[in-house]
Amino acid sequence: MQSQRKRVVIVGGGFGGVRAALDLARQKSPDVQITLISDKHHFEYTPALYKLATGHSPMETCIPLREVFDSYDVEILIDTIAGGSVVDKILVGESGSRYQYDYLVLALGSETSYFNVPGIQEHAYSMKSVAEALKLKRHLHELFNVPLDMSKRDIIAQFQFVIVGGGPSGVELAGEIRRYGRKLAKAHRISPNLITVDILQSAPRLLPTMPESVSHRVMHRLTDLGVNILLNHAVSSEDAKGVYLKDIELNAKTIVWTAGVRASHVYGTIAGLTLDKGGRILVDEDIRAKGTTDVFVVGDSAATPFAGTAQTAIYDGGYVARAIASLMQEKTISEYKARKTPYVVPIGPGWAVFTYKNITLSGWVFWWLREFIDLRFFLSILPLRKAFTVWREGGVLCESCPTCDEAQKSAS
Ligand SMILES: Cc1cc2nc3c(=O)[nH]c(=O)nc-3n(C[C@H](O)[C@H](O)[C@H](O)COP(=O)(O)OP(=O)(O)OC[C@H]3O[C@@H](n4cnc5c(N)ncnc54)[C@H](O)[C@@H]3O)c2cc1C
Repeated sequence: MQSQRKRVVIVGGGFGGVRAALDLARQKSPDVQITLISDKHHFEYTPALYKLATGHSPMETCIPLREVFDSYDVEILIDTIAGGSVVDKILVGESGSRYQYDYLVLALGSETSYFNVPGIQEHAYSMKSVAEALKLKRHLHELFNVPLDMSKRDIIAQFQFVIVGGGPSGVELAGEIRRYGRKLAKAHRISPNLITVDILQSAPRLLPTMPESVSHRVMHRLTDLGVNILLNHAVSSEDAKGVYLKDIELNAKTIVWTAGVRASHVYGTIAGLTLDKGGRILVDEDIRAKGTTDVFVVGDSAATPFAGTAQTAIYDGGYVARAIASLMQEKTISEYKARKTPYVVPIGPGWAVFTYKNITLSGWVFWWLREFIDLRFFLSILPLRKAFTVWREGGVLCESCPTCDEAQKSAS
């Protein structure tokens, strides 16, 4: 006998997808069957990726989906969505499986965009996932584990870290990577003064989507931390030796690209969706994909005014869970109201800037506020004890090279 339950398929186990699945599951409706499809077994807490790349435990950034949904009736399938059609109500996974749905939530997020700058994709590190942050961390350790019998010019390149992009992920990483590089240098008995960190920003200021007062404070903070900031400098190309700007060449072994994202390329392979220039799906007033009645779009995937933050994705996920519940009860859906959320950007240890509407505040209090926001998020997806463990682990150091491990042991 065929099940009469409505099948809700949510694709993407990130902020928006997890929120939608949890909120729907919490309603315990006997009429709904929830399936969450993601390409990874775990949820990635991206706001802490910069900590992972600079020596902290992966427990905060990498949370198994089974722990999130342990006590909920949610089917979790691991597959990479590769295409489909919202006209035919079907998605196809790389595994060859075909997924039919009554309601679909598209939550595949975004991916790094290299803007076709020659050489960047091949040579730069990026910071969009746990795998990429760990790759960068491994590379940082490797830099210190080679004999320095090289020319002065090559030694400078060895310890010059260039971060391309002055958005939140670029400035967060810049604030931490100099401290981390100096720490690694000391552990390996190399002069910490060899470490240089540059931020390259093509716009006239850092954090251009935030108020100018935020840019000023972050600029001062980074300068105090010894980071060099080059504004109005776009990268024209990169090769194995370094990065090239219009008028400067920077020889560096470490280029980290944080300068651009675009919505998942997969949306271009799903028939019936209309996309904007950034690959985001055009939506109507209740964030259903334009021209559809049963496809909702959340977070970075949707062409909404404040897409691009975890907070918006969480908000969207909650809204969609309520909307689907309303549809199940044959009620009308309340209109989606795009909401600008506060943002806290931590820069180096013990300091963060807070911005909301026209308010800009900074200092150690806001660093703690950010810690509290992290904890509140973990409490919203995990049982109490587990949430506290994950949060506490965010402060725990976890080194992977024997020399640094030894130095850490003798320091503690
Ligand atoms: C380094 C960094 C720091 C950030 N810091 C902050 C911050 O401090 N505050 C803030 O508000 N925002 C921050 N953001 C932005 C935030 O991460 C995103 O806005 C948010 O993740 C968007 O949520 P989402 O649900 O749309 O997508 P995501 O959270 O990216 O989730 C997408 C999910 O889809 C899965 N997926 C992708 N492709 C496929 C596929 N083909 N098939 C199946 N599954 C797939 C992914 O594995 C992932 O689970 C940061 C981003 C980065 C990169």
